[in-house]
Amino acid sequence: MSGKKIVILGTGGTIAGISAQAGDNIGYVAAQVGVQQLMAAVPGLEQAARGPLVAEQVAQLDSKDMAHGVWRDLALRCAHHLADPQVQGVVITHGTDTLEETAWFLHEVLDVRAKPVVLTCAMRPSTALAPDGPQNLLDAVAVAATSGARGVLAVASGEIHGARRVQKVHPYRVHAFSSGEGGPLGWVEEGNVRLEQDWPSAPTGHAKGAIEDIADVSLWPRVEVLFSHAGATGALVDALVRDGVQGLVVACTGNGTIHHALEAALLRAQQSGVCVVRSTRCPEGQVLPKPGDALPDSGGLSPFKARISLMLELLRTGG
Ligand code: ASP
Repeated sequence: MSGKKIVILGTGGTIAGISAQAGDNIGYVAAQVGVQQLMAAVPGLEQAARGPLVAEQVAQLDSKDMAHGVWRDLALRCAHHLADPQVQGVVITHGTDTLEETAWFLHEVLDVRAKPVVLTCAMRPSTALAPDGPQNLLDAVAVAATSGARGVLAVASGEIHGARRVQKVHPYRVHAFSSGEGGPLGWVEEGNVRLEQDWPSAPTGHAKGAIEDIADVSLWPRVEVLFSHAGATGALVDALVRDGVQGLVVACTGNGTIHHALEAALLRAQQSGVCVVRSTRCPEGQVLPKPGDALPDSGGLSPFKARISLMLELLRTGG
């Protein structure tokens, strides 16, 4: 027993969902069950925590509706608890739909060099015949309680993923998360962590002080994601620029290539002061930059994580 606390922050999601019929895995309502009740449904949670468990309901929403203000509140609660020497780690119950985005946001703003923040979730509501939430929560607590664990992590289906690579890759099956070609960081087996890769390293630029940058923000820089595809035009870009967009992330074809009509509009946008970043539509790999690229690439971040990094960047630089 470390004797230190594990804090569980509830935010909603399917893990807290309820359906009228136990066999219905799609017609449920997410975010109905409180975090205390979720914890009460997991035998052995206190033993897995190896110390006291503390619960807090930070939000109660379907994560498809995640908002920047909820991220801010969640990050502030995480920072508060991580600063407590009596806290070993933080677990967050979350919906699966935007879990990877929340994970990346937290990675970008929290100092997690010495403690873990572990997001977990479920693909089946709490009323399902075989809910996956209780085991995922137990595994997440076991990871948070593991000595040496650090970084923003996601735990589901017995796998441990890092915030940078984790992605929801399936809309229905229980095993819905993947870190792509790199594979998971490790696994949770009967409450024990088996690591294949090291815990994630600290965020590269601005972890220190980043939480202060967002503490009082109510107006977030507007950054949109758009796709390059057959038949693409520049109309959407031109409309967004007229509407005051500050950043654009393009999910490009292949190795960062863009339909010529869309590219022309993006270059015009860039010239007018809009920050444009290229990511790729490909689910694996990353854009390999070439000398002379007119539009910067996302450094391997998915379009949706690149959007978050660009938004925070614009916040720091004043847009
Ligand atoms: N729509 C749900 C959510 O993201 C899906 C889930 O949690 O699996 O909150």
